Amino acid sequence: MTALPATTIALAGSFARELPELAVPWRAVDAAEPRLLVLNVQLATELGLDPATLRTDAGVRLLTGSAVPDGATPVAQVYAGHQFGGYSPRLGDGRALLLGELEDAQGRVRDLHLKGSGRTPFARGGDGLAAVGPMLREYIISEAMHALGIPTTRALAVVATGRFVRRDDWLPGAVLARVASSHLRVGTFQYARATGDIDLLRRLADHAILRHAPEAAESAQPYLALLQAVITAQAHLVARWMLVGFVHGVMNTDNVTISGATIDYGPCAFMEGFDPATVFSSIDERGRYAYGNQPAITEWNLARLAEALLPLLAEQQEQALQLAVETLGGFQKAYVAAWSSGMRGKFGLSEDVDDAAARLVIDELLALLESGRVDLTTCFRGLSAVARGRADSTRDLFTHRDAFDAWAKRWLALGPDADAMDRVNPVYVPRNRLVEESLAAATQGDLDPMSRLLEVLRRPFDERAGLERFAAPGPERSFRAYRTYCGT
Ligand code: AMP
Ligand code: MG
Repeated sequence: MTALPATTIALAGSFARELPELAVPWRAVDAAEPRLLVLNVQLATELGLDPATLRTDAGVRLLTGSAVPDGATPVAQVYAGHQFGGYSPRLGDGRALLLGELEDAQGRVRDLHLKGSGRTPFARGGDGLAAVGPMLREYIISEAMHALGIPTTRALAVVATGRFVRRDDWLPGAVLARVASSHLRVGTFQYARATGDIDLLRRLADHAILRHAPEAAESAQPYLALLQAVITAQAHLVARWMLVGFVHGVMNTDNVTISGATIDYGPCAFMEGFDPATVFSSIDERGRYAYGNQPAITEWNLARLAEALLPLLAEQQEQALQLAVETLGGFQKAYVAAWSSGMRGKFGLSEDVDDAAARLVIDELLALLESGRVDLTTCFRGLSAVARGRADSTRDLFTHRDAFDAWAKRWLALGPDADAMDRVNPVYVPRNRLVEESLAAATQGDLDPMSRLLEVLRRPFDERAGLERFAAPGPERSFRAYRTYCGT
């Protein structure tokens, strides 16, 4: 184990120090032949890290965990979680480590975390490793989400380890360095609650308040205010997913953050042909985490958080329960408000258009999209052309063109703002076909297609000539063609 000079990077360990019951000090396995595949220069700079230093041998060792900065204590975090509805009392980082926290250029605390860094005490049957393809996939999709303005963990780097990982085949291994405002999950609270140690639960909640809801500390009921803050953040998050057609795929409670950021990009994907039943994960046989179920599942997950917080909400169990139920009741309202306001933006409707009229045109178009399995991204982007009097290519997306014409007439009467629409309806999203193509090339050693894709996705709203291929939907209208699509 080599130590990096402390000047390279200063990592704090507030999680490990304040919550030792939830942190097992651990070390990464050494990468056999580490090779930096991709470095997020923009993010490194935001974090106050020097990209040139990160590219050196010592930097690459830091990014795989085989060198730890002086004074840092990498830990595996423990958490519980409901997976597909069934409770697992002890999950935790089976193949991940929290290296520590750093302060970014704006003074915000960010976790630096590794995924694929070797087995930990929470690995159960797993090998603790990750393959190049899925780690690059997380890199691409999380960066695309960030560019779309959707809260997410960020990818700092992917380093190939030079080791092979056994999946169905032998695949090249990699470590992802990931940055997040924290890795606190609903499952972290479920674990703390299940220990029966109320002091631990309170310290965890205080830690979460400090990091994600500082205003809750001023409240007469700080823990209720924390629950409220998480409910609001998650309602906004899932609304953002719905507006762009993002399907997370594994909304287990261990994959739901307290910060309200998207985390854990496994079998996720962007829906193309509009269909609420869309599900990409081959293990989600019943469609629990289908596109259309995501808001209800978020609410269910938040109910698990509320349960975990009960002992902190009031002295009397009954009163705590009543407060929790009341607060959870706010989810639906917060979700509908976030979704409606986002949809109004996508349709270019101003404040002057009343809610009932807006809702009518929104619902009618969604029904048309669904009946024809129309590509969500292409359609919304195309609507601004319709507003500018160029309806043809958008109209052609629909099976029932007369119905579209009748709808468009009613919508145009509401005076949509085409320029405003172009600022919120992306041209470029990480489409399955493009992502797969770039990962296949990267796994063969050609990183150019991925760099090109990342470059396109970095400015999703800015339509550029020559990039038509990146905007085009795949040949299949239905998600069923990607049914077995899954990456971990
Ligand atoms: P996920 O579905 O990726 O959120 O992971 C669920 C749980 O399985 C977490 O506790 C992970 O740490 C663990 N896990 C997933 N893959 C592996 C692996 N290859 N080795 C060890 N643990 C893993
Ligand atoms: Mg997870």
